[in-house]
Amino acid sequence: MITPTANTSGVNSRNPLSALVQIVTVAPQPLPILPTATPTPTVIPTQIPTQTPVALTLADYGVVLEGTWLQTERDEILLAAIQTGNALSSHGAASTGTAAFREVLQGVVGGQQRKIKFSRIANGLRVCITAKTPDGAEFSANIQCHSDVIMNQYTTVHEFGHVLVGRTTIGGISSYLTRIGDPDGNTSSLNRLLNSSSDFVMGVRGYTLLSGAVTDWQRSDPDTDNGWGSAGLWDTQSYYGSYQLQPPPVGAGTPTPIPQQRSIPKLGPCGDGAPTPQPTAMGSPFTFQQNPCTFPSWLIAPGSLGNVLEVEEAAADMFLNWTYSSFNDQLWRGNNCYSNGCNDSGLSGQARNQWMDTQMSQLFIEFGW
Ligand SMILES: [Zn+2]
Repeated sequence: MITPTANTSGVNSRNPLSALVQIVTVAPQPLPILPTATPTPTVIPTQIPTQTPVALTLADYGVVLEGTWLQTERDEILLAAIQTGNALSSHGAASTGTAAFREVLQGVVGGQQRKIKFSRIANGLRVCITAKTPDGAEFSANIQCHSDVIMNQYTTVHEFGHVLVGRTTIGGISSYLTRIGDPDGNTSSLNRLLNSSSDFVMGVRGYTLLSGAVTDWQRSDPDTDNGWGSAGLWDTQSYYGSYQLQPPPVGAGTPTPIPQQRSIPKLGPCGDGAPTPQPTAMGSPFTFQQNPCTFPSWLIAPGSLGNVLEVEEAAADMFLNWTYSSFNDQLWRGNNCYSNGCNDSGLSGQARNQWMDTQMSQLFIEFGW
């Protein structure tokens, strides 16, 4: 069990947006899909394996650690690689976990098998930032963590989810990220994943604004936070504030039924409504929602930085839950469901899992993995 040495490590560090800006200024080949920061969990639910893997090493997975890392962190990163490789292999990427990991998350450039680098940064925010270098010759990604970050396997797999976004990027567009943003693959529809009760799970929430825009992409139903393996960061005291959707203009025909007055609780490290210099720490982070960045998206236009960040962090957490088969038919908010969960009769967890299975299989075909 790792004892968090700095309970405050995440408190003032959840600032993925400014981290984004930093990366954008230095990235030699900036992509529209941006490197993103993952807040440091202040609660680290480490699960020590009952069997310590002795046969496999980080080198087997092409993982290189630079800088200072505790042995426990090295063990956690190896566990993350093993878990990820096994998930990819069992779904058909390659016959072994090591081969699947390397094929999907690293690839070969110029006849050379690439690697993934983990490095330390002493200054700046106490976060990990995954810099994707899809065209790099030696590394497919550089996962940079502040020296105060105590790495665990769940944060590591979340970062591998960001690597997958990079690995599925061609011409600046990630196929994986596109799928997350448009879960039903039909741009002419409402672009949402539904559960067995036809309730919203992920995608465009579907509140039509006066302008006609439907901009409120959500990683889960903001009222229930459904289908994840554990609760998301949630400040149970703070809300973005209620908002009143404007009625349609005169002569616009039958109004679309819309919620009239809603209060959306603050979720994730993204701050109020728009990127803020220092978002407030909200609640405790949980294993399977590492960065539940959520904006009240009626303020965030499609394609804006906030929207891209929200989708990107959901992509990383979806990969995390898929890797651990941890999607759960639970509701994490509303009716006192926070933070132990309530039964979700609509089976949102199964909906997420089945959706991810389908997308991953299609990505394997698309990229020849
Ligand atoms: Zn992240």
